[in-house]
Amino acid sequence: MTASRESELLASIPNTLLIDGEWRPAAGGRTVAVNDPATGDVIREIADASVGDGEAAMDAAAAAFPSWAATPARERAEILRRAFDLLQERKEDVALLMTLEMGKPLAEARGEVAYGGEFLRWFSEVTAHAQGRYGANPEGTGRMIVTQHPVGPCYLITPWNFPLAMATRKIAPALAAGCTVVIKPATLTPLTTLFFAKILEDAGLPAGVVNVITTTDTGPVSERIISDPRLRKLSFTGSTPVGVKLLQQAAPGVLRTSMELGGNAPFVVFDDADLDKAVEGAMLAKFRNIGQACTAANRFIVQRSVVEEFTRRVTERVQGLKIGRGTEDGVQIGPLIDDRAVDKAKTLLGDAVERGATVTTGGSPVDGPGTFFEPTVVADVQPGSDILREEIFGPVLAIVPFDDEDDAVRIANDTEYGLVSYVFTESLARGQRMIDKLETGMMGLNVGVVSNAAAPFGGWKQSGLGREGGDEGIHEYLQTKYTLTANPYA
Ligand code: NAD
Repeated sequence: MTASRESELLASIPNTLLIDGEWRPAAGGRTVAVNDPATGDVIREIADASVGDGEAAMDAAAAAFPSWAATPARERAEILRRAFDLLQERKEDVALLMTLEMGKPLAEARGEVAYGGEFLRWFSEVTAHAQGRYGANPEGTGRMIVTQHPVGPCYLITPWNFPLAMATRKIAPALAAGCTVVIKPATLTPLTTLFFAKILEDAGLPAGVVNVITTTDTGPVSERIISDPRLRKLSFTGSTPVGVKLLQQAAPGVLRTSMELGGNAPFVVFDDADLDKAVEGAMLAKFRNIGQACTAANRFIVQRSVVEEFTRRVTERVQGLKIGRGTEDGVQIGPLIDDRAVDKAKTLLGDAVERGATVTTGGSPVDGPGTFFEPTVVADVQPGSDILREEIFGPVLAIVPFDDEDDAVRIANDTEYGLVSYVFTESLARGQRMIDKLETGMMGLNVGVVSNAAAPFGGWKQSGLGREGGDEGIHEYLQTKYTLTANPYA
């Protein structure tokens, strides 16, 4: 990877806001720096929007809504499909950009381009089919017509951990449904969204349909947009505490909301599991994205008779992981996003060890530059340890033994979160019982990754509201109207 390719790419990313089809600086020319977490270096200065800039973006989304909503579904689909094609053409640039601003290994960044791009293709296919229905009422006295309508201008807020996929997972269904949007990416990783907005422009998206604001004034800018009476929908991906705050802000306007929030995924290994598959699944479910995924396995709940062997095998695998800057060949573990993330992993691990757990490999931050933490396995984690309650969001694999199936279910469900669970067993009946008993919106049965654009992604309990992707995804951006017409024979 040449340094000149990196700097050329970075210099080509718009460093302004996109409002009403115009790339413009923030009010007063305010800017904020974006860093490479692998080096700590500033890689780009971008616009830092004010409350007024946010209002201007909202004005643009409201103004563009009537004509976009009236655009035929096929035309909207073709723009999405062109954006999908352009993303494939530029996939190496997008992948590199994600590695530079977020730190994930390049191979994983390429995987995210593939996953994130699928939302464009999927919703380009879905949009013409999202129809209502027509039929006689049961009494035979009239005809019932059910139609689908875009909800209106939407505000989309995304996190830093999947800079492309979190944006496409919201933008694609919104546009497919006929909605216009203001999107606010995380200030830590805004470059990918800005790059993607260029792709949408090049694909022929009309001005004002997608508006991008980047800001450090997140609270006030968002509050103003959320309280705007023209806004009809808020879609948020991020932590549960921020999601709760946003739901409160959305209540007075009775906004439609979608919330993709935090997780605390259990990864249950029964003694009848194929351990090769379980270890393979564990590596993916834990170390993908350096452990910084809402779907990351947080608690490895392993049956006592196989816990020793499972621990030995994952420890060996983790010892072989290569740490480094994501642009280097063969790197599997990049940096964590910032110092706070390193401190969190260290504190949670410290608490677990103090309560009796044993570190079998790793366990420490890596000396700078960059915010790296060694991939770690910690076994025999005791009940009550903070690491079992909180999202680790780092490369730390925590193992808890269990005795029987009821015990496994009790431990797995002992959390306010309910995003995803993973279960490894060769017994079909046991797998089916787990589908019934685990309180999560998604489950991986003998697999360590579940995400797919064609599937309904979302959580139970405090992991969120609504679904992204699948046939369900577009309905988050549509509202239903029922019309009764008189009996045509009366
Ligand atoms: P975060 O909640 O700190 O931030 C998410 C976004 O919200 C960012 O754009 C941030 O700028 C913005 N934000 C923060 N405070 C705000 C406020 N007061 N008003 C409006 N916006 C505000 O989360 P994060 O650290 O960026 O992301 C990690 C979290 O996201 C984890 O909890 C993870 O599980 C969750 N996540 C969930 C999913 C999912 O699909 N369920 C996917 C990815 C990440």
